Amino acid sequence: MQPAADHVSKERLWQRLMAMARHGATSAGGVNRQALSAEDIAARRELIDWGAQLGLIAHADDAGNLFLRLQGRDPDAAPVLSGSHLDSQPNGGRFDGVYGVLAALEAVQAIQESGQPHARSIEIVAWMNEEGSRFAPGMMGSSAYAGAASLAQLLAVRDAKGISVATALREVDASLPTLPRRALGRPVAAYVEAHIEQGPLLERHGFSVGVVSGMQGKRTFRVTIAGEPAHAGTSLRAERKDALLAATATIQALAAALHDREDVVKFTVGRLEVKPNAPSVVAGEVVFSIDLRHPDAGTLTELGDKIAGICARAAQPCAAQVEELVSAVPLQFPASMRDLVRASAADLGLPTMDLLSAAGHDARYLNDICPTAMIFVPCKDGVSHNEAESATPEDLYDGTRVLAQALLALAQ
Ligand SMILES: [Zn+2]
Repeated sequence: MQPAADHVSKERLWQRLMAMARHGATSAGGVNRQALSAEDIAARRELIDWGAQLGLIAHADDAGNLFLRLQGRDPDAAPVLSGSHLDSQPNGGRFDGVYGVLAALEAVQAIQESGQPHARSIEIVAWMNEEGSRFAPGMMGSSAYAGAASLAQLLAVRDAKGISVATALREVDASLPTLPRRALGRPVAAYVEAHIEQGPLLERHGFSVGVVSGMQGKRTFRVTIAGEPAHAGTSLRAERKDALLAATATIQALAAALHDREDVVKFTVGRLEVKPNAPSVVAGEVVFSIDLRHPDAGTLTELGDKIAGICARAAQPCAAQVEELVSAVPLQFPASMRDLVRASAADLGLPTMDLLSAAGHDARYLNDICPTAMIFVPCKDGVSHNEAESATPEDLYDGTRVLAQALLALAQ
């Protein structure tokens, strides 16, 4: 019997990636396939069809996650899961997320063709709304599955047109063949997610496969600076409470306080809302966002906890109100799972590099409920969330062979 990884087909994987990229294709060569859109439905239909051709059994759950199951010898044993997401950013690329789903499909097909026996079933999963662009926050499907978020709250979230997740999910269900339902949080033996790196390290160091050690943590905040609107010509400078001047001073003070020479702290203010946003009115209120990331839990806590004090001082004479929106701790994947990925690559003669995931992934939530690992492959210049996102068939193939080897070991 040939090893399962030898049955992985570079051409088949690439063809499926390019076929999926048609769903939501943009003129600039990218993909706009936002969660639960018509394009997402078309991608789901294609995935279900490919699975059916292989005799895989499709399931759905109440959070809109889609599963394709290759039955193991012991159908009652908890399955090994592998996948990622089919949804994209509005100006997304052809590989973010979809690679993890199609690598899992290719790995499962290779395992099936190899005839290698396995006790546990292996399931391909496409998690609902990882990107969080149409419906915020992201990682909805995986967080609901892992019990980290309440399904009722997620179903009530609305997009910019006022359509709720619940309504959009009903449309998805109505557009696809009726699939057997399964409960959220069903036990999982292990989870492995393949993904493009979305950073430059693997390419820069010449590796086709990365073993992901963990994920950096993230805290996000909303800061409201309250001033007083006033006439731009007549109000006295000494008496003004200019919220925009206070906000820019506050942002500069934060950037200075959170600056580190090593460039490990990631501090970003990406959104600024000015009221009334009129050229001849002193700004009465400014709301801005803070996205703070760091791989070390202690440092992330310490830096994040400084924010309110810095804002209060720097915003004077205006008042600053700081609200924390998200607090996701840094995490490490279990050593046994990292070792398994490294050993799987070594068996195939592929050198690997250990690296931290700087972005968030569905694996964050799976790590709470089962042994979890991630496999990274390079993408050109580290560019992602961009229509120019690009990866080579060879690197995608290497990552998929490692995935097949690891999944089979976990299922045996
Ligand atoms: Zn992704």
